[in-house]
Amino acid sequence: MSHIITILPGDGIGPEIINEAEKVLACLQSEHGLAVTLEHAPVGGAGYEDSGKPLPDATLALAQAADAVLLGSVGGPQWEHLDRALRPEQGLLGLRAGMQLFANLRPAILYPQLADASTLKPDVVSGLDLMIVRELTGGIYFGQPRGIRTRDDGQLEGYNTLVYSEGEIDRIGRSAFDIARNRGRRLCSVDKANVLECTELWRQVMTQLGTEYPDVELTHMYVDNAAMQLVRAPRQFDVMVTTNLFGDILSDAAAMLTGSIGMLPSASLDSSGKGMYEPIHGSAPDIAGQGVANPLATILSVAMMLRYSLDEPALADRIEQAVGTVLDRGLRTPDIAAAGTDPVGTREMGDAVVAALRNN
Ligand code: NAD
Repeated sequence: MSHIITILPGDGIGPEIINEAEKVLACLQSEHGLAVTLEHAPVGGAGYEDSGKPLPDATLALAQAADAVLLGSVGGPQWEHLDRALRPEQGLLGLRAGMQLFANLRPAILYPQLADASTLKPDVVSGLDLMIVRELTGGIYFGQPRGIRTRDDGQLEGYNTLVYSEGEIDRIGRSAFDIARNRGRRLCSVDKANVLECTELWRQVMTQLGTEYPDVELTHMYVDNAAMQLVRAPRQFDVMVTTNLFGDILSDAAAMLTGSIGMLPSASLDSSGKGMYEPIHGSAPDIAGQGVANPLATILSVAMMLRYSLDEPALADRIEQAVGTVLDRGLRTPDIAAAGTDPVGTREMGDAVVAALRNN
């Protein structure tokens, strides 16, 4: 059966890095039996230029009909003056909502070859391989009521609501337990149950779920401690699961442990395993069009897509091994190159991954 993948290159470096990811998909098709049909559509600034909307209706329809979506990145200074509803980032939010993507998976992997790229000591981070599962469609970013109002004493006050239903917690919990089951079988649930009732319920639901997953070791950690542990001894973690707000912050901190955002993929999944896959970085307007962007985060997003939506874990392994081979050979784009060394460009890096895939 052929899988349908909707490809959304987006803006800035998006089309350049997606081009390399497509070469990898083409190689898997011709050499390793992958059956996929690719559809392309504009999103973000490109969507606005195409049809006056950051998420054109036809793009959303294609994304909803596909088995998986591969996104480059959106945004750029030329669209910053637009009304908020027309800005490129709204395209992303519309995709998340329209595809009901409630689970955001952010791996932080530090390839041993790049241990020196981290600001932490190599012996603390070398071999790091953790996964943060962030709830993406609920919590304080969406809770009602919210706003800015005038109090009786005339002062303005801002307010937001942190709210999670049992069902929402259960849903993200199941995703995280399933992922832990297929990795190191350790899950750390991060909350602030000592202060926030909402996350007291979070802890209760996670604990209850844990009884259904006796093969996964469940621990709980307060978010302040989790932030500290991430920079103190990050290798203690296998999978972490947490709320939208905590996950937003912790996943960025975890990303920085690895030293380069050009290396990190991500996934956002719905309850049936359909998902959107994208590098964690933005559209990098400062280097767009120069052919120097690192395509590896996007190529590794393809690996996640094969693993989590297309049920092709062996092909995912192949891509990850090919990336490892290329790093072993010493190839580096400028963002991960050591000072004084000769970096390669976006295309050379993509070609090298394809060559490694062919030879594996
Ligand atoms: P950014 O991630 O685009 O860039 C931050 C820095 O990292 C820049 O110096 C950039 O050159 C570098 N960088 C990013 N990706 C790289 C890669 N693959 N290879 C080498 N270097 C890379 O973040 P920003 O500058 O804050 O945002 C730029 C635009 O991207 C904004 O319009 C922002 O809204 C948008 N954005 C989009 C997404 C997304 O599409 N998911 C995420 C974040 C930011």
